[in-house]
Amino acid sequence: MELGGTVISSLEYPGKVSLVIFTGGCNLRCPYCHNPEMISGGEGVPREEIESEIRKQKDFIDAVVITGGEPLLQCAEVKQLLEFSKGLGLLTKLDTNGGFPGRLSKVLKLVDYVALDVKAPFDDYKRIIGSDIGAKVKKSMEECANSPTYLECRTTYVPGLLNQEDMEKIAKSLDCDLYTLQQFRNRTVLDRKLHKTPNPSRDELFKMAENLKPIFSNLKIKTAEFGEEMV
Ligand code: SF4
Repeated sequence: MELGGTVISSLEYPGKVSLVIFTGGCNLRCPYCHNPEMISGGEGVPREEIESEIRKQKDFIDAVVITGGEPLLQCAEVKQLLEFSKGLGLLTKLDTNGGFPGRLSKVLKLVDYVALDVKAPFDDYKRIIGSDIGAKVKKSMEECANSPTYLECRTTYVPGLLNQEDMEKIAKSLDCDLYTLQQFRNRTVLDRKLHKTPNPSRDELFKMAENLKPIFSNLKIKTAEFGEEMV
C-alpha cells in the first residue's frame, strides 16, 4: 500500500496511546493542506509489513489510528488493517475527509472512532476547497450517526476562507458526538497565497467556539499553543 509513515502518539486517539498509520494519496487538494507531500502518494509498502509493525507494538499501544492523505482511497487494504487490529483486541480510529461514504459504510463496523472533516457548509464546498463533495461528506456523517461508532466532526478555521456565518451554518447541520475547531497554521500549506494569512490566535478560536456553543454544545478547540481544550 501507499504509506506515508507510522508514529506512536498519545494525541491522535483521545486518552489512548496509538500507532498512527499515515496512508499516502488524497482525492482532494485543500488549499490549506499542511501535509501536501502526502497528496500524491507515499512509499509502496506491503500491507503485511504494516501488520508486523502493529503486532510488534501491540503491548505498548491501546489503539491503531489510520489517517492520511485519505485512507479510504485504499479501502480494501485499510479494511484488512482494521480487521487485523481488532483481531489483536486494539481500538481503531479512522480519519477521513468524507468523500467516500460507500467505502466508509463497508468498514464502519470495524471502527470505534471516526474523525470526519467538515471543511465547509455542505452546500458550499466548492468555494472553500475547490471540490464539490459536500453532499458526500453529509452522507458520510449520516452513515456514522446511524452507527454505534463515536463521531467527531472537525473544521479547520481558515480566516478569509471561512467566516462566523459559515461556522454557524456548519454547526447547525452537524449530527455527531463532538465538534472540534482546529487552528489554521500557515506554514507549509499547499496554496502559497495562504502563507500570508495570519494564524487565528487561541483566544480568537475559543471565542468563535463560545459563539457556536448555543448551536452545538459538545465543542473543543485545538491549537498549537495549548493543544485540545473543551469549550
Ligand atoms: S487537508 Fe486532508 S483532505 Fe485536504 S488535501 Fe490535505 S490530506 Fe487531503
